[in-house]
Amino acid sequence: MKNFTYSRAATLQDALISISTLKNAKFLGGGTNLVDLMRENIEHPDAVIDITRFGAGINEGAGGGVSIGAATRNTAVANHPLIRRRYPMLSQSILFGASGQIRNMATVGGNIMQRTRCYYFYDEAANCNKRTPNAGCDAVNGFNRIHAILGTSNNCIATHPSDMCVALAALDANLRVAGPHGTRAVPFNEFHLLPGETPHIETVLKPDELITSVELPALAFAQRSAYRKVRDRASYAFALVSVAAALDVSDGRIHNVRLALGGVAPKPWRAYEAEKILSGAEASVNTFRKAADAELASAHGFSDNRFKIELARRTIVNVLTELSGIGGEA
Ligand code: SF4
Repeated sequence: MKNFTYSRAATLQDALISISTLKNAKFLGGGTNLVDLMRENIEHPDAVIDITRFGAGINEGAGGGVSIGAATRNTAVANHPLIRRRYPMLSQSILFGASGQIRNMATVGGNIMQRTRCYYFYDEAANCNKRTPNAGCDAVNGFNRIHAILGTSNNCIATHPSDMCVALAALDANLRVAGPHGTRAVPFNEFHLLPGETPHIETVLKPDELITSVELPALAFAQRSAYRKVRDRASYAFALVSVAAALDVSDGRIHNVRLALGGVAPKPWRAYEAEKILSGAEASVNTFRKAADAELASAHGFSDNRFKIELARRTIVNVLTELSGIGGEA
C-alpha cells in the first residue's frame, strides 16, 4: 500500500477544510471498501480523512419523516425502533447486508459510497474502464455471473453492491450533501449514475463534497414492506438478485407501491416500469407477473448471468405476492 497521511475530522467544518487543503485526499466512512482498494493498489489517495466522528444520529422530523446522520453505524439504523416499525425493508436490507462485525463499523454514508465488487475492477492485470478510462472491460466477454442485466453499457456491466441502497431507492430517500459552498439536497435515485460512456464517474457527488444525512419521507404504507435477498450462500455474500418492496393493498386493489431491485444494475434500480403496471391494478399474481415482465423487458444477459432475468422475475412476483397477502402460487 502506498504511503498516505491520515487525519480524523471532528466536525463537518474540519472535514471540508481538510479536503480542500490536502492534495488527492479521500474521505473514509467506516464501511467503505476504500481501504480494501488501497491494499489492492486500485485507489491511491495521498491523504485519508476519517469522517466517522461526526454526523451520527437518528431523529424524527416534524413532517413524520426520519433523518439519519451519515456517520450513523449500520447496526444502529437496523435496530432502531423507528426504522424497524416504519421502514422494515430498510432494517432487513441492512441485516442481510453484512456480518454483525461489519455492520458495527459500517456507516450509512460509507455504505452509499462503496464501490463495485467486480473482480476485474479489483485485478490490476485486467482491463477495466472504471479503473482506467478507455482501457476496455474484461467482464463483457469474461466471467460475468455476478454482473448486471439492466442499465449496462458496452463500457461497464458492474453491479452496485449495497443492500441498504436498494431499500433507500424504494423509499424515495433524499440525501443532504455539504460542500465548500453550502449544502444541497439530492434525490437518492439521482445520486448514483449509470456507466454510459463514463463508468469511472459513479455519483453526482463532487470531490470536495460529502453526504451529511439521509432523509426518509413519511410513508405510512412502508410499514408493510420487505427486503428479499437471493445469493449463493446464506451469509457474507453479495446479492445475485434482491427486491425491496412496499405495498398498499385494500379491497383487492393496489393503491400504492414502491419497488426496487439490487444485484442487477450498476446502481440501486428503482423499478418504475413495474410500478406503472401495479399502481391501481388488481392485486393478483397475474398483475405481479406483468409488472415483473415490464420491468425486465429491457434486461440484457451476458454469457454467465442470463439466469438473473428469470431469477429477478420470480423474486419480484414472490415478494409482491407475500406482501399483498393474497396467497396463491407465485
Ligand atoms: Fe471494470 Fe465495469 Fe468492466 Fe468490471 S464491468 S471490468 S468494473 S468496466
